[in-house]
Amino acid sequence: MYLYNSATRKKQEFVPNHPDIVKMYTCGPTVYHFAHIGNLRSYIMEDILEKYLRYLGYNVKRVMNITDVGHLTSDADEGEDKMLKGAKREHKSVLEIAKFYTDAFFDDCAKLNIKTPDVVEPATNCIDDYIRIITKLMDTGYAYFAGGNVYFDTSKLERYYIFNDFNQDDLNVGVREGVEEDTNKRNKNDFVLWFTKSKFEDQALKWDSPWGVGYPGWHIECSGISMKHLGEDLDIHCGGIDNAFPHHTNEIAQSESYLGHHWCNFWMHVLHLNTTSGKMSKSSGEFLTVSLLQEKGYDPLAYRFFCLQSHYRKILVFSWENLDNAQVAYNKLIARIAALKPGDGEVDAEALAALQEKFRAAMDNDLNTSLAVTAVYDVLKAKTNDETKLAALADFDRVLSLGLIEKAAAKREELKKQAVTAGEFTIVSESGESDPEVEAKIQARQDAKKAKNFAEADRIRDELKAAGIEVTDIPHGAKWKRV
Ligand code: AMP
Ligand code: ZN
Repeated sequence: MYLYNSATRKKQEFVPNHPDIVKMYTCGPTVYHFAHIGNLRSYIMEDILEKYLRYLGYNVKRVMNITDVGHLTSDADEGEDKMLKGAKREHKSVLEIAKFYTDAFFDDCAKLNIKTPDVVEPATNCIDDYIRIITKLMDTGYAYFAGGNVYFDTSKLERYYIFNDFNQDDLNVGVREGVEEDTNKRNKNDFVLWFTKSKFEDQALKWDSPWGVGYPGWHIECSGISMKHLGEDLDIHCGGIDNAFPHHTNEIAQSESYLGHHWCNFWMHVLHLNTTSGKMSKSSGEFLTVSLLQEKGYDPLAYRFFCLQSHYRKILVFSWENLDNAQVAYNKLIARIAALKPGDGEVDAEALAALQEKFRAAMDNDLNTSLAVTAVYDVLKAKTNDETKLAALADFDRVLSLGLIEKAAAKREELKKQAVTAGEFTIVSESGESDPEVEAKIQARQDAKKAKNFAEADRIRDELKAAGIEVTDIPHGAKWKRV
């Protein structure tokens, strides 16, 4: 598989560090508000990456943090703690806010078929890990204490800017108007590893540390949590593109200075979902959630489908019209799959392999999900039996997770029920299974009855009974079960 690596700015063949495991870390949500569908674009793509690695046979260990402390309203260590802001907004405690929005996040993920990572770790669980790292950074001269805070000294690094060509002057432009510059910093990009009470009196969660009672900076949590669960090296680190600077840049600075060696091989960044009026942002309070899409009648999986139709390294523009189109296309796709007949023939291994090859070629090329979706349509057009098509779709959906098989089965049931109401003869199994041989016999019995050939109808019924199948007549059809 080839993946675009933001650190080298090249597509590179993915080779894990260890033969037995792929270590994957993804930055988790800051739980002061609902996740918006832009955030969820990033999580959908990370889910695709994890599932595709597993599809290829890798044993993946994926870790994700929950930011419940330390993320300030400005990434430049300024402003209020986002968690505290959320708690004030809702007149709740920080812990209540964290619990509520963490649960809400995983509910949204479930609706979008996003798997929960193997390890989910709240930042507040790992304070000792951060203190250990910061202590070593202080001892080795990478960190300094000033004005009550511990800062990382970026001037100690040979190369600080990993993902961009920024220099100090470019970044000065990024300092927001109205935000006071932190005069304790020796260099513009130095960042806080540990805040103490001297600066933020109303911070709700505080811990004792060698530098005074306080709380960790935002960046240190991801280094600490990653090392706690994945050790001293990482294969892939993911996040949205806004995380590349300063968050990931600072993670690399502190992790590699602490470890004394290279830390993570691949950096994957998902580009933003924008609205027609610009970037969707949580802090502005105006954003779209999965629940809102549902309230408006959209299926969350149609949003997943919408995301997969484009490449993760391209900005995706959200509009209701675009989502409508995705919903219509998704419904049509499910209807086409529902029209396939389970049990029609046996899986043709050769035909299946040819279909899988197209899917893999798409995914191997830096997770080209839009081509992978094309591979789904190719299955429907393929000259092979329905059982082979369904096997291919089930296989691809291990990664795409669009509910292709389940939704199509539900659609088939729905169509059967509609047929009953329309007065057609319908055959239903009580267990929900489908057996074409049994169904054919029940149909033959019905045809015999219709032709007033009752002897033949009874004969078929007895034959089915001998085979352990019990048939009961229902209005406009028959139901059967194994006894
Ligand atoms: P947050 O909860 O704000 O810490 O963000 C969670 C994740 O969503 C991070 O990986 C961000 O980089 C990502 N993210 C934030 N805004 C967007 C957006 N508009 N589109 C895609 N990803 C985003
Ligand atoms: Zn992070």
